[in-house]
Amino acid sequence: MIKTAVTGAAGRMGGRIIHIIRESEALELGGAVELSGHRIGEDAGSVAGASPLGVAITDSLEEALADCSTLIDFTYPEVTMANLDVCVRLGKRVVIGTTGLSPDQREKIRQAGEKIPVVFAPNMSIGVNVCLRVLKDLTRILGSDFDTEIVELHHNKKKDAPSGTAIRMGEVIAEAAGKNFAESAVYSRHGMIGERSSGEIGLQTVRGGDIIGEHTVYFIANGERIELTHRAMTRDMFARGAVRAAAWLAEKKPGFYDMQDVLDF
Ligand code: NAD
Repeated sequence: MIKTAVTGAAGRMGGRIIHIIRESEALELGGAVELSGHRIGEDAGSVAGASPLGVAITDSLEEALADCSTLIDFTYPEVTMANLDVCVRLGKRVVIGTTGLSPDQREKIRQAGEKIPVVFAPNMSIGVNVCLRVLKDLTRILGSDFDTEIVELHHNKKKDAPSGTAIRMGEVIAEAAGKNFAESAVYSRHGMIGERSSGEIGLQTVRGGDIIGEHTVYFIANGERIELTHRAMTRDMFARGAVRAAAWLAEKKPGFYDMQDVLDF
């Protein structure tokens, strides 16, 4: 069994990851970490809404990792970056699902892959990763006659916008079209903005209620349009993807990997 620690153990994703680890034949929960003063000392299984697992939540990542080879981290950007440093120092494998990271932070994660095995993906669902693969082909086939717009919907507690998945979709489309994503992306339009230029990749954000996550990419031409939609109905498929990534990583040498590697696309 691959002993794995989970950070953000009392969070929405942390709780579901702990559930899925319980069901896993490959992984075993070896440590659980939360912010100081938040559920410290409580049993990680009970906090996740399941039966006790005999793993007490701690605020020390070093302590949680003592007996573990791997960390699964779905927290906040600054927390993830600090946790990554600890994993590099201790030589532990890490699966990162946190979104809202800056380009600098993402580059540091990439560099950490020179020292330890890292899987980093803003969306760990199989369905979204199939969509990313299909988007590459659609963009190449449709060419510049089709305007591309990405619309994402999430719950009202989400802190970053647009979602990491929407940004990744934009990057995949830009790359397939031979464009620079940073120069092509146009976020939330307002006021007298003039006509749409043909090279734009539009990204729109909707926030409300308890929507787990929805993404639609529109390819719009004169007289027809294609809509590619992914709807997340539960957080468990992100958690399953993270657990699958952690099991896959156990066999890997240091490197920077994403879910496309894990799923062998
Ligand atoms: P959340 O706020 O419910 O959970 C985050 C948890 O981290 C909280 O319980 C918080 O107390 C804890 N935390 C804060 N500081 C900490 C520290 N120093 N050490 C340990 N824990 C700490 O958020 P969430 O909805 O679970 O989402 C977490 C992240 O995962 C977000 O960035 C979200 O966008 C991302 N996410 C990614 C995927 C994916 O497939 N990659 C899917 C869903 C969500």
